[in-house]
Amino acid sequence: MQHEFTIQVSPEIAAHPDRLKSKVAHKNGIPLDEIRHIQVLKRSIDARQRAIKVNLKLKVYVQEDFIEQPIVLPEYPDVSNAPEVVIIGAGPAGLFAALRCIELGCKPIVLERGKDVQARRRDLKAITRDHIVNEDSNYCFGEGGAGTYSDGKLYTRSKKRGDVHRILELLVGFGATDQILVEAHPHIGTNKLPGIITAIREKIVERGGEVHFDTRVIDFEIKNSEINGVTLLDGSTIATNKVILATGHSARDIFTLLYDKKIEIEAKPFALGVRVEHPQKLIDQIQYSCEVRGPYLPPSPYSIVKQVKGRGMYSFCMCPGGVIAPCATSPGEVVTNGWSPSKRDQPTANSGIVIELRVEDFKEFSKYGPLSGVYFQKSIEQYAWQVGGKTQKVPAQKLVDMVEGRISTNLPETSYKPGLTSADMGVVFPKFIHQTLQDGFKAFGKSMKGYLTNDAVVHAPESRTSSPVRIPRDWKTLEHTQIKGLYPCGEGAGYAGGIISAAIDGEKCAQACVATILSKTV
Ligand code: FAD
Repeated sequence: MQHEFTIQVSPEIAAHPDRLKSKVAHKNGIPLDEIRHIQVLKRSIDARQRAIKVNLKLKVYVQEDFIEQPIVLPEYPDVSNAPEVVIIGAGPAGLFAALRCIELGCKPIVLERGKDVQARRRDLKAITRDHIVNEDSNYCFGEGGAGTYSDGKLYTRSKKRGDVHRILELLVGFGATDQILVEAHPHIGTNKLPGIITAIREKIVERGGEVHFDTRVIDFEIKNSEINGVTLLDGSTIATNKVILATGHSARDIFTLLYDKKIEIEAKPFALGVRVEHPQKLIDQIQYSCEVRGPYLPPSPYSIVKQVKGRGMYSFCMCPGGVIAPCATSPGEVVTNGWSPSKRDQPTANSGIVIELRVEDFKEFSKYGPLSGVYFQKSIEQYAWQVGGKTQKVPAQKLVDMVEGRISTNLPETSYKPGLTSADMGVVFPKFIHQTLQDGFKAFGKSMKGYLTNDAVVHAPESRTSSPVRIPRDWKTLEHTQIKGLYPCGEGAGYAGGIISAAIDGEKCAQACVATILSKTV
């Protein structure tokens, strides 16, 4: 017999299967020796009260053995000679689009401007240590896209639980721990993601798909409002009438290309602010209301939202036990974001703290039309680069100093390896952003006692939160509203925000695209 229960236990009991078993037996009146196995279906931490609890959804096997059902990948047919789909970008959207194309019987040809995950590491070292930004290979560009060297958080606001579960299962099939199917807030970690991404690419190639690195698309060939091919940086062209465009939120040259070719794009709201770093111990103390976290709780995340004078200000991409990374994609700019290893065992916690921006906020750049948000974002990144000293050092300020408008006389070393330049955030940001951040941090300090401290350091800017542009598509066919055969996809097109939602959108576009091919071949 199998029974499903939900139960709340201490973190210590949750960590010891035997003690959990005794607790379940006692609570449900089941003889201990009749319980053969307890399978954890869902796990979440409830830190709202002083005595922290772990909520578990369990399947209890009573007088019945548990038979493990391994996750199996879908059948991927050989597509070497199948109809082709060109996919631009090997981020989560592009890679999951490629897998889905194969599953449905088409051959994906993935074109990626960056390098494979291993070669990419050298360029990450170069930006971190030598302040050299490679415009094709960096924290945003290269195999696996922006998500490869990240915290690998896998939660999303998508309500489509079935779609989310499918992506999580695929990730497990390609090597992720099966705990991501159980945890309420799963994450993978920078050290594990490259292996999973490599396994996905190997599967694509093994089944007859193609993945080309160092292959930047610089133009689209369009005839009679239909895509006819793509041009590469080396001048060669690939003829195709099916293109999934999954180039991410940092591919500014693609947005410019579309605009120059009079292919419709729209400015869209996004969010921008700073990345703040606290000692992880302090965040644990605030969130777990204890002096020391102890061995049974993970480094604590936090999530906070406030309305500040009619604008939302919120934590974004919080990385417990993580590191702040230099995420510029061009020389002459600085950008921050964060990553964590799978154990989240670094001594610092960082988070983007960003405020909502509206399209009206970019009016100073309105001469750039739908690119106004891109130019606004770029202007802040370039100005921060100047203030930081024209290297990958970023302007930084202690948190209380920032709120009180004082330049920090000294700054501690933080996890941001290229280095810090003490600066007034009031110089880096337009006044309305700076003031909102100051007021918002005060409000955060009231909700999270201890958060507003000079032990925390603010780094500027956190600017690549989501795409400043939307590429419109038909809601049914998913093709661009003007260009037949062009499928705007993933975060860069404005249809995703994060690894999971980008992967889901990749699958969706592949399905829509393959459906048109197969309906013609039948
Ligand atoms: P991208 O991942 O941006 O992929 C686009 C790809 O297209 C890139 O590989 C790029 O090189 C390629 N490309 C661009 N232009 C061209 C061109 N002209 N020709 C050929 N190829 C091109 N999200 C989470 O959900 N959880 C996290 O923990 C998380 N942490 C992050 C940490 C960091 C440091 C960063 C930078 C991002 C993080 N994100 C995280 C965001 C997440 O990575 C993105 O939301 C996601 O990768 C978007 O997927 P995508 O496929 O739409 O685009």
